[in-house]
Amino acid sequence: MLRLLQYYKPYKNLLILALASNLLMSLFMVVSIPVLQPFLQILFSAGDGSAPGITLRAPGAQDSGFQAIENRVNAFFSQLIQDHGREEALLIVCGFLVLTFFGKNLFRYLSLYFLAPVRNGIVRDLRNKLVGKMLALPLAYFSEERKGDLMSRISADVQEIEWSIVGVVESVAREPIVILGSLAFMIVVSPQLLIFVFGLMLFSGLIIGGVGRSLRKQSGEAQSRLGLIGSLVEETLGGLRIIKGFNAEQWQMQRFGTENQRYAHTLTRLYRRKDLASPLSEFLGIGAVAVLLWFGAKQVFAGEISAATFITFLYAFYNIIEPAKQLSGASYSIRKGMGALERVEAVLDAPLGIHDAEQATEVLAFQDTVVFKNVSFRYQNSDRPALANIDLTIPHGKIVALVGASGAGKSTIADLLPRFYDVQEGQILLDGVDIRQLRLRSLRAQMGIVSQEAILFNDTVRNNIAFGLESATDEAIMAAAKAANAHDFIVEMPEGYHTNIGDRGSKLSGGQRQRLTIARALLKNPPILILDEATSALDSESEKLVQAALDRLLQNRTALVIAHRLSTVQYADEIIVLDAGRIVERGTHEGLLQKNGVYRKLVELQAL
Ligand code: ADP
Ligand code: MG
Repeated sequence: MLRLLQYYKPYKNLLILALASNLLMSLFMVVSIPVLQPFLQILFSAGDGSAPGITLRAPGAQDSGFQAIENRVNAFFSQLIQDHGREEALLIVCGFLVLTFFGKNLFRYLSLYFLAPVRNGIVRDLRNKLVGKMLALPLAYFSEERKGDLMSRISADVQEIEWSIVGVVESVAREPIVILGSLAFMIVVSPQLLIFVFGLMLFSGLIIGGVGRSLRKQSGEAQSRLGLIGSLVEETLGGLRIIKGFNAEQWQMQRFGTENQRYAHTLTRLYRRKDLASPLSEFLGIGAVAVLLWFGAKQVFAGEISAATFITFLYAFYNIIEPAKQLSGASYSIRKGMGALERVEAVLDAPLGIHDAEQATEVLAFQDTVVFKNVSFRYQNSDRPALANIDLTIPHGKIVALVGASGAGKSTIADLLPRFYDVQEGQILLDGVDIRQLRLRSLRAQMGIVSQEAILFNDTVRNNIAFGLESATDEAIMAAAKAANAHDFIVEMPEGYHTNIGDRGSKLSGGQRQRLTIARALLKNPPILILDEATSALDSESEKLVQAALDRLLQNRTALVIAHRLSTVQYADEIIVLDAGRIVERGTHEGLLQKNGVYRKLVELQAL
């Protein structure tokens, strides 16, 4: 509860207005109860034509504040009838009834009116926080938590929280007042009847509460199943090309169908439990009413209360049932909401892992060396190290190439430099300072990354190149595109630099996509470049265009180049051959050829 409250804080004023409206609304509801009684008494006394005898008090009851008020109300109505005659009094009473219900509904609307920006504001804040957190979390987090699960947290769970927010505000402000008001009235009318009502409510409350508790557990299960479905859909959409190409539609459909069936099954159980609540409470309610009718009628027969009073009492009781149901419904939705909030907060509270050290220093400009000193690294969920005892130095202005079989650990080295992961042993030093002592933003500002998979966004060509660099001028963007051999195809697109390139750049060819990412790196103009198999996904024609762009990008720059095709790294100042996370050979192209070792074998394999 308290944790939920902290989200309300920015909306204090609106919330107070909403609560106040709710308060007024319930007051109007309570006021409508004693109004009914004079009406009934006028009606019941229709036969004798005399002014009705007011027998509101149970015989022998003590005088209380409530009774004083009640008596005054009754006296007022008796006076009314005497002054204006029965029919006119009836009209006045009816008018009063309409008036109270007008007030009630006016304030009901007002409370919702003030509540709308609160609920949407809180939901917006939560979504912003969640996405902000996702952007801040280290990459390692996402290999464990499935994307679909995160998607469901941001949509379904946040939605759930919204419902419970509304539930809390409505029920906290309204229901208790209505219940208390009706109870107060009932106490005044007949304490014995009230004791009955209490016993009945307690009994039904216990039964319904039991149903609610088991609901919460099941709803958590349903939510995580929905997450699985989300990730399957995402996987399907992302892999459509492969799924169709491999005729795997049926296989994928089956995978999805199974998961979907499990979800449906969980939901069916959930609904059955949930749907039990309403019939159960109606039945319990009618049982309570029957008992009440029996007991109350006996009191009427005995002359202890008047028939009109008894009917008004029933009306008050009816007034309690709905709010009591609402309250129990709200407590259920609050509990569900708390479950959702816990899931959302699990993401919000996830440790950041990689963040700025307390006294992190700013990197002004890289000028000397990048050194990997005895670096070892193991992925969290893996049992063997991906890198062991890596020592390498990239001097300023030089190019170091990493080669080796797939899975050797080349990309892992490239990921350690911008701190996508932190080393477990050893150090990476930038100009002699451990990169963990540097401010993350300034460290990453030193680097440009071009990877095998061209990462593009559903936006215009221009924005994909200027990505993150808001200050970029059109001239600079065009110059970068020209240097990346991208300008020519860009101007041929329907809207040139302002053409939208589709989801992940789907409207472009592989080579065009890669040239856009190179243009992006050129525009950022970083001192250190990391190229991870930037050309290996391309056909030889576009590889030539991309390679020419890359050569331009590499001029006068410090670079860590990972290449699949060895011909592209011949001119590197040092070539490092990796195997299973270890350095097995190092040297220049010529030197390594003469050594007649692993590198030579790799080169000969490719020459075939
Ligand atoms: P390369 O780029 O040389 O092909 P990688 O650096 O990508 O190789 O991978 C090195 C090793 O680490 C491989 O055995 C791979 O299976 C493992 N690996 C890579 N990424 C992860 C990850 N996110 N989680 C667990 N293991 C990983
Ligand atoms: Mg790789």
